[in-house]
Amino acid sequence: MPAVRDAPAYPVPGYGLRVLRALEDAGFEAWVVGGWVRDALLGAPMHDVDVTTSATWQETERVLSAAGMEVHETGIAHGTVTAVSEGWPVEVTTYRVEGAYSDRRHPDEVRFVRDVREDLARRDFTVNAMAYHPERGLLDLFGGREDLVCGVVRAVGDPYRRFEEDALRVLRAVRFACRLGFEVEPRTQAALVACAPELDGIARERVGQEMGGVIASGRVAWALRHEFDVVARAVPVLAPMRGMDQRSPYHAYDLLEHTARACAAVEAFAGGVPTQALRWAALLHDVGKPVCASVDGDGRGHFRDHQRVGAAICRNALLGLALPREVAGRAAALVRYHDRHLSASPAGVRRLLRRLDQARPGEAPALAYQLLDLQRADAVGKTRACAQRTVSLAVFEQALSAELAGGTAFRVRDLAVGGGDVMRELGLTPGPAVGEALSGLLDGVIYGRVENSRDALLAWLRERG
Ligand code: ATP
Ligand code: MG
Repeated sequence: MPAVRDAPAYPVPGYGLRVLRALEDAGFEAWVVGGWVRDALLGAPMHDVDVTTSATWQETERVLSAAGMEVHETGIAHGTVTAVSEGWPVEVTTYRVEGAYSDRRHPDEVRFVRDVREDLARRDFTVNAMAYHPERGLLDLFGGREDLVCGVVRAVGDPYRRFEEDALRVLRAVRFACRLGFEVEPRTQAALVACAPELDGIARERVGQEMGGVIASGRVAWALRHEFDVVARAVPVLAPMRGMDQRSPYHAYDLLEHTARACAAVEAFAGGVPTQALRWAALLHDVGKPVCASVDGDGRGHFRDHQRVGAAICRNALLGLALPREVAGRAAALVRYHDRHLSASPAGVRRLLRRLDQARPGEAPALAYQLLDLQRADAVGKTRACAQRTVSLAVFEQALSAELAGGTAFRVRDLAVGGGDVMRELGLTPGPAVGEALSGLLDGVIYGRVENSRDALLAWLRERG
């Protein structure tokens, strides 16, 4: 259980205090609210300061501008402005409640209110619904502190109603459980499962953002095991994994548990700091399997081409969630090669680097290390015997590092000669033949048939015409 304090573990930072003081000196009421209060009670690293106030956004803007702060109208429809206080952004929102959610996404109306207690009641989870003021102390109407002590995510009010109002909260519950390492309180959990299908109606980019938070928590394995109904609604291509028997001597688990193990292992192999792309790739590495599954005469499962098919599914799924193109591209490249046999010879290393460079120009070395972690994680998620593969992957990693340290060549531009040399040597004019000749030279270098020096390459060209 986390050590939860009675009061924040650290004082409200000066730049936040300035905002509170300016508003209160002008006769309004203001509190720090939400994530800062939650994280400060947990003694977690300092969260941004969000302020909630009785002032309207126009009043807030006037007061804070007069106090010398820059104020940006970042969400005035919801009563939010962002003040820049001592260089730090502070979101200031008017006390408000939300009207009906007829589209289950956006409140039809936002109603501004004068009582902070109403504002706290519209917030999603008890741990997010606390306010704090340096003199008035902690305002905790729904047992948020107690829930921090017990490590539970609990909806404020009736969970079914709250999830029906805004189905995104279903995924937010999972995100906060992952991020805080909490469980979901049983009634909230039951409502979560019942309301998970409503996630289909939520804008994909909002789903992508929350799902990105689940991934970034490093605890997606927990979410797969405990909240699969929600995860499979957020990322529907995962749905067929549950209960999928791989009918293979290489797999001790169904596809879902295998994936959960791979996700957990990638955290361990990457020392707790895998890239977003690697985390997504671990989640989606076998996403092509259900589509590519076949069973042979002996009853064994095969998944021909699942790497290539999976890479395309992965890319589309991530772009569909409006995640950054680079993250989608990198994750797809990792999925594409997650099952590739890696040979630790210099040629084997260069071949992999060339492939990765073709997929993501300029990113091959970084991707190669991530691919190694993905392959290790995949191996330990299979059977004990498969886990032995981590040994040969360690050998490959040494070869990779040696090759990169020695200034290896795996791109045409790494060659010691250029197009001009080739044209002169072979009497060619510009055209596709030049590219072919260069690519032939690169093959020669990659496979160690010719040294990557100007003299050796030109002699080799002459010899072979
Ligand atoms: P994080 O560090 O993840 O941003 P946070 O608590 O600041 O944590 P936000 O998503 O930024 O989370 O939301 C800020 C606050 O607004 C939350 O703490 C919660 O009180 C409230 N909130 C945000 N989204 C919703 C929602 N969909 N329904 C109800 N309350 C919400
Ligand atoms: Mg926030």
